[in-house]
Amino acid sequence: MSISVGILGAAGRMGQMLIATAEADAGTVVKAAVDRAESPLVGTAFGEFTLTADTAALFRDVDVAIDFTLPSATAEHARLAAEHGTGWVLGTTGLDDDLIALVKQTATKAPVMFSANYSLGVNLLSVLVEQAAQALGEGWDIEITETHHNQKVDAPSGTALMLGRAAAKGRDVALADVQRLSREGQTGIRPAGEIGFATLRGGDVAGEHHVNFFGTAERIEIGHRATSREIFAKGAVHAAKWLAGREAGLYSMRDALEI
Ligand code: NAD
Repeated sequence: MSISVGILGAAGRMGQMLIATAEADAGTVVKAAVDRAESPLVGTAFGEFTLTADTAALFRDVDVAIDFTLPSATAEHARLAAEHGTGWVLGTTGLDDDLIALVKQTATKAPVMFSANYSLGVNLLSVLVEQAAQALGEGWDIEITETHHNQKVDAPSGTALMLGRAAAKGRDVALADVQRLSREGQTGIRPAGEIGFATLRGGDVAGEHHVNFFGTAERIEIGHRATSREIFAKGAVHAAKWLAGREAGLYSMRDALEI
């Protein structure tokens, strides 16, 4: 049996990939696709459905809404998911603390999957990072680098922060207490226990992340390179199928991938 999905941000890079991926998947039917009213693609027919700006109808009509948009859209989508109990696969990054709290609150009313990265590879990487951070301890300096295309609007990437949280968890600390999101000027020497981030932007890079553990006279590097957004779209469609029909709650890709 297939489930119905609605794609939010359907005119965007991820939205277009999600439409193609969900249509190709025997387990999903795309029933609705929505973007901002000013998008030139609104009104365009895609096979069985037409891209509209009717967000409320999407949340009312589908089993699961797949949302790769902007943080400015998140509050409205949370309200509609809670009102209709619609499954909500949220991939938007750059959410502030208030929006993250709202997502958690929505998960008391609807099944919500929230991940900064829907690929199998990065979710497995986060498990490895947590293990390595735990095994190595504070004597090793952790630095995370990320590279993305020149159209990305937030930094560090949601995935870099997710990997930072995994490292912090391995050390049993809160990332917010040890993070250094960027450096410039007279920074002083590196404090022990800090988790550092560095950002590169350019070209059409789909996403690269490397976590470096610097010891004395040795270094461990583990990382992931995405060469296509297809991996995020496939992961999000897998998440939608896994989420459909579940009880209200906040779920992670580790749950859906069973890793
Ligand atoms: P994009 O700019 O190409 O697309 C975003 C789309 O959302 C645009 O078409 C925009 O018009 C639309 N949009 C904005 N507000 C909207 C609203 N209120 N209602 C409906 N549509 C709205 O960006 P993108 O590269 O597709 O990325 C989108 C988001 O997904 C970003 O936050 C990005 O970081 C994130 N992302 C997450 C993952 C993941 O695995 N979690 C992977 C890739 C990208």
